[in-house]
Amino acid sequence: MSQTLYRTLCEHVAETARLVTVRELLEWDERTIMPTAAGPYRAEQITLLSRMIHSRRTDPVLGDWLQQLAETEVIAEPHSPQATTVHRLQRDFDRQTKLPASLVEELSRQSILGQQAWVLARKNDDFQTFQPVLEQIVDLKRQEAAAVGFDDCAYDALLDEYEPDETTANLTRVFAALRAELVPLIAAIRSSQRGPQTDCLHGDFPIDAQEKFGRQAATQIGFDFARGRLDVTHHPFCTTMGPRDCRITTRYDPRFFSTAFFGILHEAGHGIYEQGLPADHFGLPPGMYCSLGIHESQSRLWENLVGRSFAFWQYFFSRARDVFRASLGDVKLEEFVGAVNAVCPSLIRVEADEATYNLHIIIRFELEQALISEQLAVADLPTAWNEKYREYLGVESPNHADGVLQDIHWSSAAIGYFPTYALGNLYAGQFFEAAQQSLGDLQATLAAGDFTPLRDWLGERIYRRGQCYSAAELAEQVTGKPLSHEPLMAHLRNKLEPLYGLV
Ligand code: ZN
Repeated sequence: MSQTLYRTLCEHVAETARLVTVRELLEWDERTIMPTAAGPYRAEQITLLSRMIHSRRTDPVLGDWLQQLAETEVIAEPHSPQATTVHRLQRDFDRQTKLPASLVEELSRQSILGQQAWVLARKNDDFQTFQPVLEQIVDLKRQEAAAVGFDDCAYDALLDEYEPDETTANLTRVFAALRAELVPLIAAIRSSQRGPQTDCLHGDFPIDAQEKFGRQAATQIGFDFARGRLDVTHHPFCTTMGPRDCRITTRYDPRFFSTAFFGILHEAGHGIYEQGLPADHFGLPPGMYCSLGIHESQSRLWENLVGRSFAFWQYFFSRARDVFRASLGDVKLEEFVGAVNAVCPSLIRVEADEATYNLHIIIRFELEQALISEQLAVADLPTAWNEKYREYLGVESPNHADGVLQDIHWSSAAIGYFPTYALGNLYAGQFFEAAQQSLGDLQATLAAGDFTPLRDWLGERIYRRGQCYSAAELAEQVTGKPLSHEPLMAHLRNKLEPLYGLV
């Protein structure tokens, strides 16, 4: 009886997933190849699908089924696919149904208006016109937190949407420890007389050669092009529209090597995770990514821990030199690896290097938390922004466009999202350290161009588990430790201190 009910539930949710993936396909198309004039009709298509998806997800019958199943043997085994399905769906159902329809509508309206206002404000370098719009959004997000409910602080309720079970208190503790070590390391790098030159990354890098080389590297680390594609877009992303259809995107700069190459490794990392999720549970919690932080850990692991390592380039550099002879012909391996690991405090998050990136995120986490807890008024946000940039990174933006107005997130009501980027770096450091300990001489394997042992190791411990464990549980299981700043800091010190003559 309960097994039949469980199957009915799964079929309902799998059907919703089909609608979600149709929406993904429409969005992928919009961001890659859609003619611009098609925009308004596409918006109507997406809005209709979103309404259908929302109504299926909040259908009272779903609530009834979940309640009935919560009292049966279906959920007897914790962390089993069945128990995971029921628990995760219950969580999502509770969150969705706690939000009054009027608030959901108002949030969606304000996030569209917010993005339009943000585009203009950024273009005109004008925070004042954006301020009332952001005040509205912050107010709505506080209402959202109140409706969802929280134990400790309102920000917890917002964070929970992106990083289930993570808490503000835990992040505050770990980020503070990371900041305390990172700020002096970056200050020492700034004042060092030694360091790598990055000239070799700027030059003649024809787009078709970049694409070929990027595809080759993505294939070699394990992105399966029989079940995926690589296309061009303005703001790169990875999306999945079926159990055997994962799309990654990138953008090319014909005068700069790093944008596309490391972008492709990053998105391929996301894609390898998606392709490694259990296909037989597609669209259901056991077949879905654990959290945004864990997703980002996979992209960062391949982009930074693997893709910027000396071992990786021991294998790939001669190949890169063959492809980009005009620019890299006379460059030495050591010089090139130094260049791709250069650290330079800057204003723009999306262009930041591996080390300073985390401080960009910590700044945003501290500020958005202060906004939600009413310790900071939106009017004072630009001043607070500049103070933190001066204090943590030693830089200050001459304008708002490259300062407080640089990101789309707040304008689109995505408050609570930023920490998942830094969590990605922290988890990546932790997973990679554990992989090194368990795989013997991993560096030698990578230097031989063999990425299978690492990928299989991650697949077995992370990809195949879907949402059967929370991010925190996964970290404990895979690494034997809770979330910590130490592996990432050790990785950065080991690499950067010698590079900048600090040891
Ligand atoms: Zn990413």
